[in-house]
Amino acid sequence: MTTDETILVVGAGHAGFQLAVSLRQAGFQGPIKLVNDEALLPYQRPPLSKAHLKGDGGEELILFRPRKFFDDQKIELISDRAVAIDRAARAVRFASGGTQGYAHLVLATGARNRLLDIPNANLDGVMYLRTFAESEALRKRIKAARRVVVVGAGFIGLEFAATARAKGLDVDVVELAPRVMARAVTPEISAYFQRRHSEAGIRLHFGVSATEIEAENGVVTGISLSDGRRLAADLIVVGVGVLPNVELAAEAGLAVASGIIVDEQMLTDDPYISAIGDCALFASPRFGAPLRLESVQNATDQARCVATRLTGKPEPYDSLPWFWSDQGNDKLQIAALTTGFDQVVLRGDPGQGAFSAFCYKDGHLIGIESVNRAGDHMFGRRLLGGHRSIAPEQAVDPNFDLKKALA
Ligand SMILES: Cc1cc2nc3c(=O)[nH]c(=O)nc-3n(C[C@H](O)[C@H](O)[C@H](O)COP(=O)(O)OP(=O)(O)OC[C@H]3O[C@@H](n4cnc5c(N)ncnc54)[C@H](O)[C@@H]3O)c2cc1C
Repeated sequence: MTTDETILVVGAGHAGFQLAVSLRQAGFQGPIKLVNDEALLPYQRPPLSKAHLKGDGGEELILFRPRKFFDDQKIELISDRAVAIDRAARAVRFASGGTQGYAHLVLATGARNRLLDIPNANLDGVMYLRTFAESEALRKRIKAARRVVVVGAGFIGLEFAATARAKGLDVDVVELAPRVMARAVTPEISAYFQRRHSEAGIRLHFGVSATEIEAENGVVTGISLSDGRRLAADLIVVGVGVLPNVELAAEAGLAVASGIIVDEQMLTDDPYISAIGDCALFASPRFGAPLRLESVQNATDQARCVATRLTGKPEPYDSLPWFWSDQGNDKLQIAALTTGFDQVVLRGDPGQGAFSAFCYKDGHLIGIESVNRAGDHMFGRRLLGGHRSIAPEQAVDPNFDLKKALA
């Protein structure tokens, strides 16, 4: 058994960083060690497909805090890769060969890009967007590129497509599903964004997959599609989802499925190991089913939940999920989870560029998707956070006062 009092956190993304900060805020005075395998101070990912890609680059704009903050807070940053967990000894081994003991280990290993598995997909002109290094490489690349094909019409693919188009590139988006963001939003929201992206000059292709990257002398020239068509391109950007980083946990014998399995308090089946953020498949009291979410809210609120438990006030994780995506000049915000709806009613007017889709199941409001209607979104977070509902006929009525409904 270890006598080390260290709380060791593997992964310094949104979840790992927040955990370290919340531990200090909660008064934890023991050693906190934050391990990360990216050669950069902890940073935020959302700007990578937004402001950072549009702007002049520079890492200081996306860092959570400067180095001095970590020194002041006595949060030790370890730049290394965790390669094995010795659960009996309560220690983690690093790629560099060193080891570190722990009183409690928190896995905040996040997720990695799902790779495109087609011929020529490993060429230099086929790029992804998950890390600062990838965003930086893309930011430079789109200055010289003229024609880009984006594979995948999910949030990141569309955010990138809108930015590339605004910078004057010719943009095609290829998607297997029949509509954009099909897994995450209602058809009403998909239809709005399809119209907006098409109006901006982006060509959207549905029901097709990429079958081969075409190249001459190792240089990308286009992409072949499953319907036999070919699209010319000098850059391919792939946004086909992520895979949770569960291998470290699995190799240590922890239970994993489509994420590291944790209970309602983010604890694995080892009482000395928790998992949070994109890598964690958690038992959700709110939804009554195991969930793995990929969002800043989820990563940071789970970190706060674990910090609270480790400082002596255990509570189940029950935060309301919420999410946002900026595409062109439009802001999409989602309160709760809207999958499984059987009725959708609209408040506001898609034609005016500001509306919300109120999603119902069995007559109960389950989530709200808002476009350029921040007030509706905040209303949804407060109402749904309190497990409350309003009727569909109230939601569509512009004279119905949402604020009063909260009172
Ligand atoms: C381009 C982009 C845009 C996004 N936009 C939004 C948005 O608008 N809104 C929103 O809510 N969410 C957005 N997200 C999602 C959000 O960023 C993630 O949900 C969030 O980063 C998850 O945080 P995390 O700490 O769980 O994982 P990550 O941020 O992935 O951090 C995990 C870290 O752990 C490191 N690591 C993994 N294994 C090891 C190991 N063995 N040893 C050491 N280090 C390791 C990884 O390299 C990584 O740095 C976006 C994501 C991306 C990529």
